[in-house]
Amino acid sequence: MDFKLTDEQVKLRQEFFDVCRELEKLKPAGFTGLESTFGSDEGWQYHLYCGKEFAKRGWTTLDWPAEYGGHGTMMDRVFFAEARGYHDVPGVDIFGVEMLAPTILHAASDDIKKRFLPGIAKMETTWGQLWSEPNAGSDLASLATAAVRKGEYYVLNGQKTWSTGCHRVSWACAVVRTNPNAEKKHQGLTFLLLDMKTPGITVKLLKYMDRGHYYNEVFLDDVHVPANNVVGKENQGWAVTQMLAGFERSNLGAIMCMQRQIEDLVKFCNETRLSDKPVSSDRVTRNRLAQIACELEAARCLAYRIADAQNKKEMAPFDASAVKIISGELQARVAHFATELFGPYGQVRLSRWAKYDGFYETWYHHQFRLNVAMGTNEIQRNIIAWNGLNLPRMK
Ligand SMILES: Cc1cc2nc3c(=O)[nH]c(=O)nc-3n(C[C@H](O)[C@H](O)[C@H](O)COP(=O)(O)OP(=O)(O)OC[C@H]3O[C@@H](n4cnc5c(N)ncnc54)[C@H](O)[C@@H]3O)c2cc1C
Repeated sequence: MDFKLTDEQVKLRQEFFDVCRELEKLKPAGFTGLESTFGSDEGWQYHLYCGKEFAKRGWTTLDWPAEYGGHGTMMDRVFFAEARGYHDVPGVDIFGVEMLAPTILHAASDDIKKRFLPGIAKMETTWGQLWSEPNAGSDLASLATAAVRKGEYYVLNGQKTWSTGCHRVSWACAVVRTNPNAEKKHQGLTFLLLDMKTPGITVKLLKYMDRGHYYNEVFLDDVHVPANNVVGKENQGWAVTQMLAGFERSNLGAIMCMQRQIEDLVKFCNETRLSDKPVSSDRVTRNRLAQIACELEAARCLAYRIADAQNKKEMAPFDASAVKIISGELQARVAHFATELFGPYGQVRLSRWAKYDGFYETWYHHQFRLNVAMGTNEIQRNIIAWNGLNLPRMK
């Protein structure tokens, strides 16, 4: 593995960082990560604005095939993710650009590609994910939302939950049950694309513990979805679902976000004095910072190795699980450390006393998502056990 970049890569990476640095200056007060994108009108408008800036430079389609606007490589996409992560800039639809588009490119008909990819690339459509249900999360294949074929439509009835951003997005990808009598439960599922304005869809707020509105319950009552919106084939949606989950990539954005956080915290420790000494002279604080820096470096190396493997199409199925666990759990430790370091100043997000505009307090509230959404870390460890270590599969 050779991490040395070519001159062109260095130049392009710098360009990503330059543009993201400028966009960071436009960030609404208190904007922090994915949740802020969905949590306020201002955050959503900022996300759309950044998205249009990226789209006009062709950065939403970097590693797509040329016929759909691609002009770069997987590694270019990695550098772009690093720049966005470091500056905590939104503008790339994680459900549309990051996960659904590559799935469509691999698994959908030409008709679906032509109808949906241009909108995703230009940020004209924004996407959510209607998978989990009140009784189907880790065991997603047991989901119950029914889709019955009637002429040229599927008629959907059921309930989805935890649907991130679905009060704002225009479209969603859904997994539904089309054959309730299939021998195995994952064999009766279909993956389809759903216009969120279709009559019969009710989106209800699922209030988060910080009282923000990022997540939803979505109720589907006789929702008619055109049959030609199926990705792949009827009753073969499980393979499409698994493919999409695998496109969660290397988490380099999250890792670069932590890189920035460590830089902030080191600066804070050097500049803040306690009992007439800089906080950075406190041994416990120094040790904790050093430990986080070591773990971050290890996470970054793993993420680069995975990105390199993806680029060469040599990625093992458990690689993404490994980096998800390592980066998610490290993020939790960074968030805990920062809020402890700030003491009472880490708990006054809405006041003028808040450090870093309340970023770390918000981040503390939200880091749980990284270890639950898109498959909990317990499930990721199961995947590593089965696929990586060949341990017996537990029933
Ligand atoms: C913030 C957030 C955002 C989300 N966004 C979306 C979204 O946009 N769209 C969407 O469809 N879903 C979304 N989800 C749902 C998410 O995918 C599920 O929460 C997740 O898959 C876990 O399912 P569950 O909540 O039903 O927990 P359960 O499956 O009930 O699990 C409960 C606990 O048991 C453990 N467990 C379960 N099975 C096993 C096992 N076999 N071995 C070991 N441990 C096990 C789990 O790890 C967990 O700790 C989101 C969730 C959160 C928290």
